[in-house]
Amino acid sequence: MDHNEELAELLFPEIKETIADLEQRFPLRNLPEGAQVTRFAPSPTGFLHTGSLFTAMVSSTYAKQSGGVYCFRLEDTDTKRTIEGSDRDLIDQLAYFGIVADEGYFPEGDRGAYGPYRQSDRASIYKTVIKELIRQGRAYPDFCTPEDLDAIRKIQEERKDLPGYYGVYARDRNLSYEERVERIQKGTPWVIRFKSFGDHEKKTKFTDLIRGEIELQENDTDVVILKSDGLPTYHFAHVVDDHFMRTTCVTRGEEWIPSTPIHLDLFRALGWKPTKYAHLPSIMKLDNGNKRKLSKRKDPEAAVSYFLDAGYPPEALKVYLMSIANSSFEEWTIANKSFDLNAFKFSIKKMSADGALFDMDKLNYFAREIIAKMPLEEEFALVREYAQAHEPAFFARIEENPNYVKKILNIGKQDKNPRKDYAKYSDIYPLISFFYADEYDKVAEAGLPWNGKLSHEEIVAILEAFKSMPFGTDENTWFSFIKEVGAAHRFAISNKDYKANPEAYAGSLSDCAELLRIAVVGRAQSPNLHEVLEILGQAEVLRRLEKAKR
Ligand code: GLU
Repeated sequence: MDHNEELAELLFPEIKETIADLEQRFPLRNLPEGAQVTRFAPSPTGFLHTGSLFTAMVSSTYAKQSGGVYCFRLEDTDTKRTIEGSDRDLIDQLAYFGIVADEGYFPEGDRGAYGPYRQSDRASIYKTVIKELIRQGRAYPDFCTPEDLDAIRKIQEERKDLPGYYGVYARDRNLSYEERVERIQKGTPWVIRFKSFGDHEKKTKFTDLIRGEIELQENDTDVVILKSDGLPTYHFAHVVDDHFMRTTCVTRGEEWIPSTPIHLDLFRALGWKPTKYAHLPSIMKLDNGNKRKLSKRKDPEAAVSYFLDAGYPPEALKVYLMSIANSSFEEWTIANKSFDLNAFKFSIKKMSADGALFDMDKLNYFAREIIAKMPLEEEFALVREYAQAHEPAFFARIEENPNYVKKILNIGKQDKNPRKDYAKYSDIYPLISFFYADEYDKVAEAGLPWNGKLSHEEIVAILEAFKSMPFGTDENTWFSFIKEVGAAHRFAISNKDYKANPEAYAGSLSDCAELLRIAVVGRAQSPNLHEVLEILGQAEVLRRLEKAKR
């Protein structure tokens, strides 16, 4: 007699359901051919990692574009690492990126028929499956203390054997029923281990959607499946949850590849068809010439909050991540003049298996394009929201005169090729602060950056002449005036003349315009000068021209 039945009953008397009941409770999904059920399964242990956003985005895009279901599962079985409130933060941050689960855990209550979606609420489901594994002789209680396990590890080190609880090292695998009962009744703490029939001399294979066929050593370790706190380990929870949630494809980080033989072993023992796997590449960083994984500790850009605090539009980060996910995406954006992630047909099979280097320049490029293309009212609302949260001084100015800020943001916006000055909202205020009299005055009082080609008297004379410039006219009329001033002060009106004989002139026409720009803006670069002057208005421009003479 193997007494497995009695052992199962002794360990889990409260469990009355069977696997067959669970199969009924969570029926196969009725979805169209090809529809994928995916999930994003973070642990509530802190901020949203940039790599996790990537995983969540790929998972949701793959499900949604195939007409399937995207679930959010909270993997909170590591209670020591759980950070209070981070579940809500993760969900809120994902929602900010427009990634909202069709089904899953939500702090205000689960949505969907395949829940609960928080692992700590699923203890009875795991125990139901474990009870059955014990009945079948495929799981057993292990009474080892941490010290016992340390001792085993030491022996393995001395013998240069692989670490782990397997073969002769699986101390409690072959205890008799009586020995087990005695320990359980004495109250000795236990965990449940899976009884593997694998052999690490043999190979196991699976097809990864991104990487193709992967061949690894078979699992032969009796991994812990239920911890002493009554919660499952990742390995077991993954298999049970993805089976009963009817996940079709597990999209997870490549760090899980080496554990996949354990998962396949568990699926096999349970007689379940394994899910498909797509192990996503990590996002990398170049560090002293070496590629390494983006690190939570070392790299601020590892946290999604970094981009939000800097004021990147969430869409820009998603677009950038899509360009990592499918290398054809960037070309597509150019060909289609669009960044619409819903319109792009994402292909999981075309993902690169190599970790992409995080490329800030590329992100900035996309972000500039996206901000430039935003309709004015939308951009204004987002800038205002950002300033409210991050830049109180700028926010006060926006509230004081919102239309003034709108006019500034609108400079060059309606052009066929809009200006691309801003990659993030925090770029804006430093670039436009000169529109505010007090900010300009600070610069002017510190000394304007004249280029040193003209004497003070010459500059003063030209600034005086600029004072009669027309306002409220079109750009051409205004520019004719600038030319006249230029001609009267020895500037070359044609570039050709200037190039042929630079000595004969005080400078080119653009040198002349630069004087006006430095006088009014306080620096040699600005957006379209005519628009700037019109926004500042005649009174302020005259005031600045006067001030600049000093
Ligand atoms: N909780 C696991 C993690 O955060 C999930 C891995 C998976 O998607 O299966 O890495």
